[in-house]
Amino acid sequence: MSPLTQNAGRRLSAADHRRLDELFARFEELGPRCIGYPCNRDWDYSELYRFLSFNANNVGDPFQGSLYRQNTHDFEREVLAKFAEFTRADPGAYWGYVTSGGTEGNMYGLYLARELHPEGIVYFSEQSHYSVPKILRLQHTRNIMIRSQGNGEMDYDDLRETLKLHRDVPPIIFANIGTTMHGAIDDLDRIKAILAELAIPSHYIHADAALSGMILPFVGDPQPWCFADGVDSISISGHKLIGAPLPCGVVLAREAHVDRIARSVEYVGVNDTTIGGSRSAFSPLVLWYALRRLGDGGLKEIVDRSLTSAGYAVAALRDRGIDAWRGENSITVVFPRPPEALIERWEIAPDRDIGHIITLPHVTTDAIDAFADDFASALAPSP
Ligand SMILES: *Cc1c(COP(=O)(O)O)cnc(C)c1O
Repeated sequence: MSPLTQNAGRRLSAADHRRLDELFARFEELGPRCIGYPCNRDWDYSELYRFLSFNANNVGDPFQGSLYRQNTHDFEREVLAKFAEFTRADPGAYWGYVTSGGTEGNMYGLYLARELHPEGIVYFSEQSHYSVPKILRLQHTRNIMIRSQGNGEMDYDDLRETLKLHRDVPPIIFANIGTTMHGAIDDLDRIKAILAELAIPSHYIHADAALSGMILPFVGDPQPWCFADGVDSISISGHKLIGAPLPCGVVLAREAHVDRIARSVEYVGVNDTTIGGSRSAFSPLVLWYALRRLGDGGLKEIVDRSLTSAGYAVAALRDRGIDAWRGENSITVVFPRPPEALIERWEIAPDRDIGHIITLPHVTTDAIDAFADDFASALAPSP
């Protein structure tokens, strides 16, 4: 018997099979009610499942090639080229890779910034993703949290006053391009104007565009957010708007920055430029498949539909006396924190006094109406 099949006779016990069946049933039941998290469920990657029968691995820099040849680096580079287009990077002057998610992309951006400006101070806001303080602690980078406004955007006056006190140190701006809770986009024009006003000579801007990074390329009037608007690196999640069976994302940065910090290692014949060592070869394939199958037209359709649903949800909730709102170009519909029973039933992720739903394509108008009805009756005084 070949070593590959020597354990072929071993099977899961009946009890273990039952556990898997129960897990499957649980996922099937929860899926349709998940309206509080930004995970598109409208996809089918079954054509790719056969690739799960290989020990594929994208270890190393996707642009350098690797001695480990069961990889999808060529597909990964095509995915990055497409995201470079979305984020208006200069062709041939960007670098990046497919990450394990938005958090790793933020970590890469902040790592790059810190290597370029070892003395730099990171400015992020109260509404920045929870991964940010953790990353800053890991990297031991100096940082200051800036207040947020009620709509989730950074408080620019607080930013100006804080920067003023530290004009001798290069600022590293962590810009929220769609906050998790409000979908709020920090105003890069205002931030750049403040840096100019204070005559700060050198700075770095990282854009955390986990969800909105897949919305803004497809709207008519995007807020400033991308390389063309002066950012140095961008992180976007793959499993959010595009949807994927496993978490993934993309990070892109200006190539000149990356070249300055590249370190070469011999071990697997690759440049060790990524944060992870061994990396998924499957998620680049998933993203490639989605991008190819949908095309720009299909992606725009998802965005249009989600924006229309968001408008519908705001109206549906307001019709029932619930004070809902959303930001410009945002599919995150914000409302006062609902009663606990509702939070559980609809998988709403609340934060202090607010809650939200995110109207990706699987969140149908029927689901929105059902949620709004449920919300209204939970608030109504019992007869
Ligand atoms: C979801 C999210 C992240 C983190 O992304 P993961 O893919 O979950 O690691 C970062 N920033 C924002 C604003 C997010 O919404």
